[in-house]
Amino acid sequence: MSSVPAAAAPRKNRPQVSLTVLRKEQLSPHMVRIVAGGEGFGDFVDNGFTDSYVKIIFPQPGVTYPEPFDLATAREALPREQWPTTRTYTVRWVDEAARELAIDFVVHGDEGLAGPWAAGARPGETLTFTGPGGAYRPSPDADWYLLAGDEAALPAIAAALEAMPADAAGLAFLEVDSDADVQPLSAPEGVQVSWLTRNGEPAGSSRLLVDAVAGAHWPAGRVDVFAHGERGYMKALREVFFTQRGLDRSQVSLSGYWAQGRVEDVFQAEKKLPVGKV
Ligand SMILES: Cc1cc2nc3c(=O)[nH]c(=O)nc-3n(C[C@H](O)[C@H](O)[C@H](O)COP(=O)(O)OP(=O)(O)OC[C@H]3O[C@@H](n4cnc5c(N)ncnc54)[C@H](O)[C@@H]3O)c2cc1C
Repeated sequence: MSSVPAAAAPRKNRPQVSLTVLRKEQLSPHMVRIVAGGEGFGDFVDNGFTDSYVKIIFPQPGVTYPEPFDLATAREALPREQWPTTRTYTVRWVDEAARELAIDFVVHGDEGLAGPWAAGARPGETLTFTGPGGAYRPSPDADWYLLAGDEAALPAIAAALEAMPADAAGLAFLEVDSDADVQPLSAPEGVQVSWLTRNGEPAGSSRLLVDAVAGAHWPAGRVDVFAHGERGYMKALREVFFTQRGLDRSQVSLSGYWAQGRVEDVFQAEKKLPVGKV
């Protein structure tokens, strides 16, 4: 693999939030929901974006971190190879009254940190993250919406669908492993939701999402696009949106959420290289 640039310098001003895992729900064979809350909930400031995301912090095993645990302090005090690891996840929903929030994790096997952690998480464990960041909410100026993603983007797409006005129109394409991974979604009647199932083909390897978006009949009018998921899919969709359909950048929220064969640290660092640009 090509060498990757050093990670970005630590940002001190990102608020850190520590929550307690309250419960875990198996949403489908490949998706687990962690609901977390507790005393630290008061530190979480919702930003109102439907793709609101946090950076979950995983301390490295065997490293002693300064107490109380704080990402910025740990990065200042320790050499880079001992810095905690972070993984990026969408906040699926926030319930201010119940003082809890949910994060839906793709369970993609034994590899990685976050997926396996979520699969085995138990009530009482600590979930620490920084954020939230975010950039998208359905544009009120759109004539129709186009949403496209694989299971990693399903939480953000589900949140976007829920935030749309009842009379919204559009198309949503969601790629998952099989029919068993299809989830009930709350969407406006005018948004047609299409589930695309790989049926065992590895995530990130199929043409299903790209072909469905490219081959769909696009309604007339100004479209607002939210497309996120595996990096290769997003590069192919970039061609569809900008080359084939001539959309303006302002109409499109498009980025890779993960990349086949890359842990997130490498995937994020590669964003600065030609291979990582979407
Ligand atoms: C803004 C943003 C929001 C995101 N929101 C969510 C979310 O709500 N839910 C969610 O599940 N993911 C989400 N992701 C994607 C998630 O950050 C990555 O999938 C991340 O790599 C998972 O970390 P990990 O520790 O499980 O695996 P890593 O250690 O990063 O990777 C280990 C291996 O697993 C593979 N892998 C990683 N993710 C997947 C996957 N989804 N399917 C198949 N193989 C995979 C990698 O290619 C690698 O080979 C989001 C990403 C971004 C940038």
